[in-house]
Amino acid sequence: MAQLSDDCFAFGGPLLSVEAAEALIADRVPPVAGIEQVTLAAALGRVLARDLPAPLPLPPFANSAVDGYAFRHADLAPGAPTALRLEGRVAAGQAARPLAPRAAARIFTGAPMPHGADTVLMQEDAALTDGAVTVPAGLRPGANARPAGEDVAQGALALPAGRRLRAPEIGLAAALGCANLGVVPRIRVGVFSTGDELAAPGTPLGPAQTHDSNRFTLLALLARLPVETVDLGILPDDAAACAAALRAAAGGHDLLLTSGGVSTGEEDHVRAAIEAGGRLVFWRLAVKPGRPAALGVIGGTPVLGLPGNPVAAVVCFLHLARPLVLRLAGAAPEPLPRFTAEAGFAYRKKAGRREYVRVRLVPNGAMPVAEKFAREGAGLLTSLTESDAFVELPEDVLAVAPGDVVRVLPFAAVF
Ligand code: AMP
Ligand code: MG
Repeated sequence: MAQLSDDCFAFGGPLLSVEAAEALIADRVPPVAGIEQVTLAAALGRVLARDLPAPLPLPPFANSAVDGYAFRHADLAPGAPTALRLEGRVAAGQAARPLAPRAAARIFTGAPMPHGADTVLMQEDAALTDGAVTVPAGLRPGANARPAGEDVAQGALALPAGRRLRAPEIGLAAALGCANLGVVPRIRVGVFSTGDELAAPGTPLGPAQTHDSNRFTLLALLARLPVETVDLGILPDDAAACAAALRAAAGGHDLLLTSGGVSTGEEDHVRAAIEAGGRLVFWRLAVKPGRPAALGVIGGTPVLGLPGNPVAAVVCFLHLARPLVLRLAGAAPEPLPRFTAEAGFAYRKKAGRREYVRVRLVPNGAMPVAEKFAREGAGLLTSLTESDAFVELPEDVLAVAPGDVVRVLPFAAVF
């Protein structure tokens, strides 16, 4: 389990920038310990625990990149076509015999280069006459041949510790002959919702109730990360109950997430619950939709209180929970990709905080136009289902005009 000191997130001011929050997480959170062996089939999304040096070169032997004819480049006449005697044939998986001087061997893609041969002529470019192949002028030395180790040299760092294993990493590990990989144990993340107004989906709504959506959004967001998730249900708006539940859950999890109840209202009990059980460190993040958010430590376990409004919960998840999870899980930082688009809207904002505007991206030549979702409420779930991206407006920006080039964070990288 994670073991953080109570004051590990301590910082000086009341309003924390997104950048400072990310830096606090990067600096203060130690990854969980341990290593677990998994098969390649089970490795997707996991975090590599140790550097993987290549136990063999890739490709393991020099081979042909095409179907054609292999020969020694030095046998070609400079600047003129050369006829070479055709001798030998080597297909993929076969052993090649050494090449005689001024000869060419029939060769197929993936077959080993005969000893002495260094260049391959594509069969489409070959002129065949009785027992000979004519190589046109102009082929560079080494053309169409793949030297041993051209992809990865033996002993080179193939994959660094902390790398998340996606399809390409799994393919590379397989090519290197690894049937199993040592990965960081999955961290356990517990997710609570808070609020007396919440009812679980599948249960009827009372007159002043709404269905709990955040818990399911957060569990779905976590499913893309290297974690085991635990659904911890809904907490009532009651300080003692919240404090007891957080304290009880802290021991069995590496991270606790809550949503709702972190504002300054009398019915916001999460902050007090964190303070009662451990140490609260910040609770206002300079982001919209977003703040308030609370980060604290209870019994060595980080507790992140996300805002209740569904869009704010998502934005704070991306900037706090995601880096926190990656850090705890031993993964290297994975900044979300940003692209540029042309603003299709006008917008004003306050200085000193970062804002996220939900937009649809409309193709438009080289740069898409970002069309703003018509309404701005942080509670509008359809502003996420009917948008493609967030426009990210930096702290120092005060206004956006149509035609301005803006930074977008595509939902495809997030959801
Ligand atoms: P709070 O921060 O608790 O005041 O919540 C802010 C708003 O978000 C309120 O309208 C809540 O009803 C709503 N909200 C809080 N938690 C959830 C949740 N789990 N699912 C859906 N809406 C929520
Ligand atoms: Mg609430």
